[in-house]
Amino acid sequence: MIGVSILGCTGSIGSQTLEVIGKYPDRLRVVCLAAHKDFSKMAALIQRWRPELVAMVETSAAQRLRPLVTAPVLLGEEGIEAAATHPTAQIVVVAMPTSRVLKATLRALQAGKRVALATKEVMVTGGCLVKEQLTRSGSLIPIDSEHSALFQCLLGENSDGVERLILTASGGPFWSKPLKELEFATVEQALAHPTWKMGPKVTIDSATLMNKGLEILEAQGLFGIPADRIDVLIHPQSIVHSLVEFRDGSVKAQLSVPDMRLPIQYALLYPQRLPSLIRRLNLSEVGSLTFYEPDPYKFPSLALARHAATLGGTMPTVLNAANEVAVAQFLSGRIRFLEIVKIVEATMNRHQPEKDLTLEKIEHYDHWARRIANEEAGKRYS
Ligand code: MG
Repeated sequence: MIGVSILGCTGSIGSQTLEVIGKYPDRLRVVCLAAHKDFSKMAALIQRWRPELVAMVETSAAQRLRPLVTAPVLLGEEGIEAAATHPTAQIVVVAMPTSRVLKATLRALQAGKRVALATKEVMVTGGCLVKEQLTRSGSLIPIDSEHSALFQCLLGENSDGVERLILTASGGPFWSKPLKELEFATVEQALAHPTWKMGPKVTIDSATLMNKGLEILEAQGLFGIPADRIDVLIHPQSIVHSLVEFRDGSVKAQLSVPDMRLPIQYALLYPQRLPSLIRRLNLSEVGSLTFYEPDPYKFPSLALARHAATLGGTMPTVLNAANEVAVAQFLSGRIRFLEIVKIVEATMNRHQPEKDLTLEKIEHYDHWARRIANEEAGKRYS
């Protein structure tokens, strides 16, 4: 039996992870459940999954949860770290959509766990720390569908044979709309993703294409390929999850219907391939697969992310933290859609990146960027 801790169990990836565990009750079991603040959903999950340990980030949520359950409920960052390092967990699913789980991810690796990583913000901000830790202990398998695809395409290959990585993007709801329409895009329109069912943070990131920008940084961190050799193609059907082009001109891709339960199961059961919950891909039913270059004027987020990748150091941390703030401001209706990326850019412009990353440095500039991004957002309140 493989014990699994889930950081972010009440979210979209967390729920789908539990579905996968439910399909393999003889192989996988829930050891720890951790979430941000949804205590009523957590109470129901505890009833169903009987974890050994529960953690809630928000103190008030933990306090409201405690009388409802018998399992021990820890709180704050320490609670998340306890779930990440619990002795009976072999796998830690990291699926809270914030760079704030970087420390818990590093702790899990230090404790020798396999990290199944859905939170791309971890590799974006602390990729080099994660890589460094991986040389000593622990292992990591990405859950992000594009990176799961790249991981699968790169298996058995030498890295010096790789020419470039090609990330596919669904394009979100706006890629084919004129720029004018994006100006007044509502929260509801931005949340209406055409192919993937995901949480609100990543769905908005998909609409701005910042998700793909973050994924360039994530791929650079995971696979050691520099950002200028990582391309992006819009692929509205979301069937080809990413591609690797080799030096001899050969291209490998991984395909399936768009369903996160596949990369989740892959990360949990790797290297085993077992039947999954997803619908089979029928290519004759899909008919055609199409690919387009993203419009750099409509989606400046990609160039910003490449710029951050080139500068390196603390700049990706600043980009990511500013984006988290700007997305939250948009979701709460205080700024307009196109201002999300403008706030990220304005915050980056006020930052001089520092090299020689440490966890403390990353946390310092993460806080700094959140404060500056909130200030920049305040100037734009409509
Ligand atoms: Mg993705």
